[in-house]
Amino acid sequence: MSTIATSPDTLSTPDLESVRAEFPALLTEVHGKPVAYFDNAATAQKPQAVLDRMERYYRSENANVHRGVHTMSQLATDAYEGARETMASFLGAAETREIVFTRGTTEAVNLVAASFGKDFGPGDEIILSEMEHHSNIVPWQLLSQRTGVRLRIVPVTDDGELDIEEFRILLSDRTRLVALVHVSNSLGTINPVRQIIADAHGMSVPVLLDGAQATPHASVNVQDLDVDFYCLSSHKMFGPTGVGVLYGKAEHLEGMSPWQGGGDMIERVDFAGTTFNEIPHKFEAGTPHIAGVIGMAAAADYLENLGWDWIGQQEQDLLDYGTKLLSAIPGLRIVGTAPKKAAVISFLMGNAHPYDVGTVLDRMGIAVRTGHHCTQPLMKRYGIPGTVRASFAFYNTREEIDRLAEGLERAAGMLS
Ligand code: PLP
Repeated sequence: MSTIATSPDTLSTPDLESVRAEFPALLTEVHGKPVAYFDNAATAQKPQAVLDRMERYYRSENANVHRGVHTMSQLATDAYEGARETMASFLGAAETREIVFTRGTTEAVNLVAASFGKDFGPGDEIILSEMEHHSNIVPWQLLSQRTGVRLRIVPVTDDGELDIEEFRILLSDRTRLVALVHVSNSLGTINPVRQIIADAHGMSVPVLLDGAQATPHASVNVQDLDVDFYCLSSHKMFGPTGVGVLYGKAEHLEGMSPWQGGGDMIERVDFAGTTFNEIPHKFEAGTPHIAGVIGMAAAADYLENLGWDWIGQQEQDLLDYGTKLLSAIPGLRIVGTAPKKAAVISFLMGNAHPYDVGTVLDRMGIAVRTGHHCTQPLMKRYGIPGTVRASFAFYNTREEIDRLAEGLERAAGMLS
């Protein structure tokens, strides 16, 4: 993964069985069989360390954050603001105030569209791509309806890469923002974001990256990438649902107006006029998801302790092994064959509908996702209704992939 930096070597190599034992949900039985969980791109399982940390907050630290003089409120505030430091370090941000807590990637993109995009207008353009998740399309369409800004779309090649030549043609002095996915959830493609950012900055255009599928798989350093905005979702990186991060360069966040009003985001409220809190608090109206933020930081710590080198090797092995095994199944066609891929295999089985394949696999205790994966324009590009998607995490095993391949062979017999 050339566009994602790896961490220094870890001291000891984790043992897969011990790692798996840290994820209670992997013990779940589905239709009488231990689950083979291949739906990690939709949401990943949570390690005990995350569950314990959240329980500790609710059991002994539960209080609202900020402004409290009592000890428990200070404990909660310390944990919440400590989580901001953890996430700043996780993303390699220069300052903790560049970390805004959100409900996830979707809310992070909506925040940038509502606030950073609010002065865009007719004659301005935003560059997206054909492989975007709906959460990096629809907020910009809503903005376009409000302001008249035009959306320009980078096409995707047959094997699932961004057409970089076309991107360069679209990039112009009308471009106000480039907003692209770092790693595609449907294809697994790792986009050449370093090059894209350099090209965009060459025209003084800021770049937003949707990092929902990047942060679970490899170390991301926002300063190293020099990206302007970076969005992530905790639940895809082994943390709780309903929480995430918008990273924004301080120079951008400072100049942006609040997008939601309420408690915590103000400095002073008066009916004659209200002044706003500093960044990042001016973007965090209302009581936040305190336990979620703390749990997300525990997940970030967990990943760093496990070590990105081990995670990378494990997932590359699963991707290579799975690709080889599945490609050998007659009638199976992999959608998304870019040379640089995260551990995602999207495929079709002959003429069988993805939904039917997923249903048959579920009877065998194998969890895959079927459908358009919230990337309908991409499915339209390939002229297909959807795919079956197996998305791996470091805790998956070759034996589970053997079960998937056997299950698919049986499904092929049943559905042909
Ligand atoms: N972007 C990508 C690439 C995703 O895969 C997803 C979720 O599947 C999202 C954005 C949206 O994430 P969330 O629903 O956590 O906001």
